[in-house]
Amino acid sequence: MLDLQTTSSPDNEKIKNVEVLYGHSQSEISENLKNYNIPLKQNSMRTKQLWNWMFLRGISDFSVIKNMPKDLLHQLSSDYTLKRNSISVEKRSNDGTIKWLLKLSNNGLSTTNEIETVFIPEEKRGTLCISSQIGCTLNCSFCHTGTQKLIRNLTTEEIISQLLIAKDKLNDWHGNNPNNTRKITNIVMMGMGEPLYNFEAVKKALLIMTDCDGLALSKRRVTLSTSGIVPFMERVGKEIGVSLAVSLHSAKDDVRDILVPINKKYPIRELINACENYPTIKNSSKITFEYVMLRDINDSIQDAKDLAKLLQNIPSKINLIPFNPWPGNNYQCSDMDQIKKFAEVLNSAGFSCPIRKPRGQDIMAACGQLKSETVRLRKKN
Ligand code: SF4
Repeated sequence: MLDLQTTSSPDNEKIKNVEVLYGHSQSEISENLKNYNIPLKQNSMRTKQLWNWMFLRGISDFSVIKNMPKDLLHQLSSDYTLKRNSISVEKRSNDGTIKWLLKLSNNGLSTTNEIETVFIPEEKRGTLCISSQIGCTLNCSFCHTGTQKLIRNLTTEEIISQLLIAKDKLNDWHGNNPNNTRKITNIVMMGMGEPLYNFEAVKKALLIMTDCDGLALSKRRVTLSTSGIVPFMERVGKEIGVSLAVSLHSAKDDVRDILVPINKKYPIRELINACENYPTIKNSSKITFEYVMLRDINDSIQDAKDLAKLLQNIPSKINLIPFNPWPGNNYQCSDMDQIKKFAEVLNSAGFSCPIRKPRGQDIMAACGQLKSETVRLRKKN
């Protein structure tokens, strides 16, 4: 069943004019509270209370806070907002996948700034795929978002807002239902954009999401996916400490130059060196390598052998992703028989290589496709 819902977006107007409190770290909130007339010894308690209401109970309005003075709440609500960005379109797939198109502030420009966020439920976990930029500069040739020019980086609060919106929609606020199992257990920074080209905002957002007093996502269950921006990779491990995924797609430079053109700047040898030195590898965590299966491009048995050789010194998991075709793209998905043979080569070389189940195919599953289609329909009408 396909469920299309369109809403207007009055909240974005407000988000433009005041600061968004959930984009601040605990220490920043504590610092900001010093501007209000509250005793210094209460500072830490008030910070914790705000953190708790925002990230355990998921409030979007200061007025529902019960345990803080009314005049403080009044002052806070004139300086800050807790509103989320608004949903332009929601699509629900037959397989339970939900895709939201979110409307962001356009800073007075005439462009409509929209991003996609996707929830993928599975038997034992629920994964939220989050965007880091509006559009992308990297033009990976198999990726639909790569056809959309970069408009801007997302702010920290716009990155966090994606998680808050998904939790609102899924009724996944743990503070309200302590006995409920979490619906969103995993985060992947794998939506629109290259997260390492927006490093500071992504870092701050992920540190807030993994703060154990609040949203408390386990760092092992948060994965940042990069196309291979080598100079930032070590910083991800050292400064954020989350799991790393690399959008690899070929073990050969000449093929990867076409699929992931940033390879011309950071070729495979440099990328592999950065992976071998990734800080959390010493704690035996694996790096995930994403490998989209493209017929006659990167799916031969020799390609699988080259891949196994390339990754032989890296604790790795290789996700084999059947290609999701999208209009205007000439690639084709490899046959399932060929994908299985490819996987066998990797398995017998000792790699874990799950074949990703295609999800949300009835709701424009390719990353960026819902945004393009919505823009096209708006122009038509
Ligand atoms: S795969 Fe990622 S980095 Fe490459 S174009 Fe798409 S969104 Fe950008």
